[in-house]
This record gives sequence, structure tokens and C-alpha cells, in this order.
Amino acid sequence: MNKPILDPDHLLLDAATRIAAPPANSPFNAASPAIFQTSLFTFDSYADLEAVFAGRSKQFIYSRGDNPTVMELESLVAALEGAEAARAFSSGTGAIAATLLAFLEQGDRIVAVRHLYSDAFRICEKLLRKFGVAVDYVDGSDTDAVVAALPGAKLLYLESPTSLVFDLQDLPAVAAEARRHGVLTVIDNSWATPLYQKPIAHGVDLVIHAASKYLGGHSDTVGGLVVGSAAHLARINTGSYPYLGAKLSPLEAWLLLRGMRTLPLRMERHMASGLALAERLAAHPEVERVRHPAFSDHPGKATLSGFGGLFAFEVTDAIDVARFADALGHVRIGVSWGGPESLVMPALAPLQMPGEANSLQRFGVSPRAVRFGVGLEDADVIWTDVEQALARARR
Ligand SMILES: *Cc1c(COP(=O)(O)O)cnc(C)c1O
Repeated sequence: MNKPILDPDHLLLDAATRIAAPPANSPFNAASPAIFQTSLFTFDSYADLEAVFAGRSKQFIYSRGDNPTVMELESLVAALEGAEAARAFSSGTGAIAATLLAFLEQGDRIVAVRHLYSDAFRICEKLLRKFGVAVDYVDGSDTDAVVAALPGAKLLYLESPTSLVFDLQDLPAVAAEARRHGVLTVIDNSWATPLYQKPIAHGVDLVIHAASKYLGGHSDTVGGLVVGSAAHLARINTGSYPYLGAKLSPLEAWLLLRGMRTLPLRMERHMASGLALAERLAAHPEVERVRHPAFSDHPGKATLSGFGGLFAFEVTDAIDVARFADALGHVRIGVSWGGPESLVMPALAPLQMPGEANSLQRFGVSPRAVRFGVGLEDADVIWTDVEQALARARR
């Protein structure tokens, strides 16, 4: 199962070549894929209709199922992940929910990393528990703890690095153990993108993307995907996808394809600026800690061939986090990440929901933390803004 890992330069070149390849559905040899903005596809005859429904032939039927523009996106992301198949959704959360609901039944138990994406946590707490699925949360960075929780579990839910506190999991180690115990593995790979981490090559079964973030890259579309083997995707395609109705529109699939044309370039910039800012922050006297996978010595770092530009830092007592956010001029305040604009999210409201106690503690987030999504602007411009805001945020 352990396929050889290509060197990072080769991976990037490969990805750029695949992204630039002609569309599969390209009337008139158009260089850009067509937007098949249609709800339905007609049949030439009754016999054709009957053959399609009897499974004797294939044809597009209705865009809640397959649509050629959406399939263009699905095959691109599957290819980049080294997977056989993919399914696109109207959000990353839709992809997570459909994946979990396709494989789980009443009485099952799943193991999830403790610091997972907040709405993935709520899918577990608000949907899975309601349908009789038990959820155990473990410290994903502690491989022994993950392995100890596996016997009897149906599914292991990973996110490496996690997108709030950026802790890592040792993917080859936990995937191999999960396979030994017959546990299906699912990972949220939104942060690294298929360019910088290929979980399937390390034995993980299913890979989820919030395409709303780096894949789309322009802060204009919400979308998601799950990729994996043809057999696993068939289970999603028949077990949950058509009935949840969380399909991606052809227009939005096209926007994501359009965004992905510059993914390799954008990721190089996010990585370089993210590292430059993380280093400057780490050297700043009012910054206590920087949470960036580049600064980690966890074995989970080995499967990353590059870094996203999203990380967090924790300020000292002397800094008022709210005042820091307000003092920023260029960098804006907002949830989400992955677009051209730099964003901060002080560790606060977005994580907390009515009725949830101690949300920050739950996700391992310090009240003095700031999550920083470094955009595509000049790194010096971003740094000047951050530095002046830190200076003005002193209590
Ligand atoms: C945003 C996000 C999601 C959810 O994606 P949506 O498209 O907003 O539903 C899932 N995982 C991570 C890590 C995210 O940042």
C-alpha cells in the first residue's frame, strides 16, 4: 500500500501540468471548460431512457447527480490526490456529512482527532450522536492514543494539521494501524491542498477538501470534495450524496476550476509569506508562541512537502487581542481563509455556539491566540501592518 513518495518539485510540476491540461468536455476545443448550466439532460428516445435507468448505458440525467462541469472538477482533484474518484459538494461541510453518513450506522463508534474543524465536531455531536453513533475524541498528535482507541471503531477522522491549533498526526503510522483493525480512515486535507500532502499515498482511504479555501482561492465560492477509491466513492454516490442534495452548481464548479488554474503559484506565495511572517512573529517580544507546522518536530511533518499560509500565534499578557485586531489597517477580520486577502480571526466568537461550554478549551485554543490567514499581498506590507497593530494593542 505504501506507494513511493515523489520529491516535492516533481509533484508541483506534475500538478501544474495536470491543471493546465485540456478539459475533458471542451466543445470547439475551447481552452477553458464549458459551463453546462442545465438542470437536466434529455433522451433521444424512450429506449435510450430505459437503457440508462436499467444501467445498460450511461448518460447524464439530472444535475443533482452528475454534471459535466462538476465532473471536470472532480476528475482534476482526484488526479491531484492520486485517487480513483471524487465527488463535489456545495460545501466542505456537505462533503464531511455525506462521507460520514454513507459509512456509519446506528451502534457504530468513530474516533476523531480532538482539535478537528469546529463544524466537523458539530456534525459528530449534533448529527451522529442523534443517530446512535458514538464519538471518541483523541489527541491526534499522540499516535499511541489514536491506536489505543481503534479496536472496535468503524472510522478514524483525521485533520493534519488541524486548522485551529495546527497539531499534526503521523499519517502512515495511524493509517497502517487503522487498516490492520479494519477501520476506515478519512482526512480533512484542506490546509495542505493536494499539492503539499497526498494522504492516499500514505494509506488514508478518503480525503476531504473545503474547496472554499485554497482550491478556489478567490473568496468567491463555497464548495467541497471527497476523493478516494472508486468503491468508496460508489458507496457515497449511492448511500448519501443524491439524498442530501448538497450538490455543487456547474457555475461554482467552473469558478473552482478557474481558481485552481493558479493553485501552484498561489500556494508558493502563501507558503513563502506565511513562513516569513511566522518567523518575524516568533522573534517579536510580545508573541509568546507561534503555531505553524514548520516549527514542529512531530513525525507528522514528514508527509508535508510544503506549507499553507494559515497559522496561529499567541500574544503575551501585555497585548489586548481585540485591540490588536481593531488596530490592523490592511489585514482584515474574518472567518475562513485561502483567498488573496490576509485575514485574522481572534480566538473568540466563531468557535462558540449557544449551549457549548468552554469552546476555546475544547479546541485547544488559547484566549490570547490569533489565527492568521496570510494572503497574497507583499509580505512586507502585511508585516508592517501587524507590527504597528501589536504596538498599538499594548494594554
Ligand atoms: C472551512 C473548512 C471546512 C468546511 O468547509 P465549508 O466549505 O465552509 O463547509 C472544513 N474543514 C476545514 C479545515 C475548513 O477550514
